Amino acid sequence: MRKKIVAGNWKMNTLLKDGMELAKAVEEQTRASSADAMVIIAPPFTHLSRIGDLISHVRLAAQNCSSEASGAYTGEVSPDMLISAGVEYVIIGHSERRSYYAEDNQVLNKKVKLALEAGLKPIYCCGEVLEEREAGKLFEVVETQIKVGLEGLTAADMEKVVIAYEPVWAIGTGKVATPEQAQEMHQFIRQLLARLFDERVAEDISLLYGGSCKPSNAAELFANPDVDGGLIGGASLKAGDFAAIVNAF
Ligand code: PEP
Repeated sequence: MRKKIVAGNWKMNTLLKDGMELAKAVEEQTRASSADAMVIIAPPFTHLSRIGDLISHVRLAAQNCSSEASGAYTGEVSPDMLISAGVEYVIIGHSERRSYYAEDNQVLNKKVKLALEAGLKPIYCCGEVLEEREAGKLFEVVETQIKVGLEGLTAADMEKVVIAYEPVWAIGTGKVATPEQAQEMHQFIRQLLARLFDERVAEDISLLYGGSCKPSNAAELFANPDVDGGLIGGASLKAGDFAAIVNAF
């Protein structure tokens, strides 16, 4: 049975004290909700361990991890380190990592495999830029991101993977995909996973939509049969908005 999930990507926002307050508010407001959805927050690295001590209903994610296990990689944070800090999920392949830090599908595949080996659950992001959509290449782009990024994984590995479809033109722009555009791509991804793995993987995986999702549009996006929740950027920085998105279920 696939899970409904609402995950908040805080990006490089909040200082430690504000982050701890936000996490406490998210914990309180979503714990009180009767919505049938798992709630995840992804604060900055520096906050993870402290925030982990404040939450129990809400699950903890990191926004990135290293593609290397340990050693002379200054500034990097390994999957094992995240596990040791109490982290359960890790976002891999966010479009900001792909574009600003030149992370390609091959390096993301290394990260996904290393994260799984360490016991983390990857939230693997994919999505096309506007020019690719306008050129009719959206399915081709997403197919390559998924094929290469998840190459070598087994069906058992896939039980731990969540996929977030985040059209890049909708991230932080206020331009949300229509429910039909989201459903069309999610259905495509599910069919692709059935081909690459098997029907069970395709049926059981949670597929999240991300890109300008907010309280006013979450319900119509989540109402689609292949949309199992959302990866939320801007609106995850206000506990009330984030809880309202969770309540859209
Ligand atoms: C994101 O960065 O993952 C995201 C979906 O951002 P926003 O909700 O702000 O568009």
